[in-house]
Amino acid sequence: MITRNPHLANLKAGYLFPEIAKRRREFAAAHPNAKVISLGIGNTTEPILPHINAGLVEGAKKLGTKEGYSGYQDEGLPELREKISKVFYKGKFSIDEIFISDGAKCDIGRLQTLFGTGVKVAVQDPSYPVYVDGSVLAGAAGGWEETGYAGITYLPCTAENNFFPNLDLIQPNSLIYFCSPNNPTGAVSDHAQLSALVETAINKSCIIIFDAAYSEFIRDPSLPKTIYEIDKAELCAIEVNSFSKPLGFTGVRLGWSVVPKVLKYKSGESVHADWNRVMGTIFNGASNIAQYGGLAALDDEGLKEMRALTDFYLGNAKLIRDALQKLGINCIGGDNSPYIWAHFPGRDSWEVFAEILEKHQIVTTPGAGFGPAGQGFVRFSAFGHRADVEEACNRLQAIVTQ
Ligand code: PLP
Repeated sequence: MITRNPHLANLKAGYLFPEIAKRRREFAAAHPNAKVISLGIGNTTEPILPHINAGLVEGAKKLGTKEGYSGYQDEGLPELREKISKVFYKGKFSIDEIFISDGAKCDIGRLQTLFGTGVKVAVQDPSYPVYVDGSVLAGAAGGWEETGYAGITYLPCTAENNFFPNLDLIQPNSLIYFCSPNNPTGAVSDHAQLSALVETAINKSCIIIFDAAYSEFIRDPSLPKTIYEIDKAELCAIEVNSFSKPLGFTGVRLGWSVVPKVLKYKSGESVHADWNRVMGTIFNGASNIAQYGGLAALDDEGLKEMRALTDFYLGNAKLIRDALQKLGINCIGGDNSPYIWAHFPGRDSWEVFAEILEKHQIVTTPGAGFGPAGQGFVRFSAFGHRADVEEACNRLQAIVTQ
């Protein structure tokens, strides 16, 4: 009989979010009259705004005409790639350095094929679970130990280091996953911090996969929205990004990756050429309808809508953060990101998660699910309808959890 991929056996328990959904279902079954509000997962809730939606509709209509029909287009619409370079990178990249994808998560999974089994990996701790689980699936990580995977270097991001890790912990020749604005902490790294990261990567022959999926939530103009605002980043970094959160495209599926042509492995071979080869082999392009929606999002009207939608979620984030702070709970995030990272010192985060669900009927995400340094924290997501967020804030104030 064919044997199972041994890396699958290394995956620890279930993926975090299905586990939370399971606990929510169990709670709802035991309390059939409870109105449970989810501030748990980062799934968008608001409708796609009209101009961008019209772009999707027009894209679908085009497919029904002789002149507008298109089939496979592996690398993505050239107009969209050009617009992405112009809007997000001041035209710094040629269109063949921008790869349109069906989302950042999918690209993160595929990118591991460039580095293969046994590569050393460093991740912010806590971090988006796909970095660690994707590395385990690719065979990059060793077995599970008490405090994490043996082959993964966890870079603790805690209140003590202001949620920016000690870069000295990174081993030479590593693949570094770095996310800013960060999921789950909501922390955004500044220019000096990202410059130090780039310098470390270059000095230690590392490659950074920089996840900028929440960059459009940044409001402070002094904070970098892309790693390529940092000098020399194109020599050591790939950036993944997504239309999911700023446009509500979580179900539409559209994202992109930037792989600069100057980026090389230690051997001097081109990462860009390999990514072209990988994408051409195991990916057949993003939906052309989604890409027409993306194109509409990057004209003047679309950019206004993107701003309005991200403003809306940031408004939710402020309400949640204010409500928690009124209770004396320390938290960060929520100002330039849609996540609020609330501190419950000395408490087990799954226990706090269970208590908030029990007392307030609010679903959150336990910090420990994002890595060992998430212990003692709970993540509140600002993705929700305004009325639900307001009700959740009222419920939180009614009963204190500490
Ligand atoms: N990167 C981060 C940090 C995320 O939090 C998420 C989704 O929650 C993604 C990527 C997934 O993006 P996409 O919907 O484009 O796959």
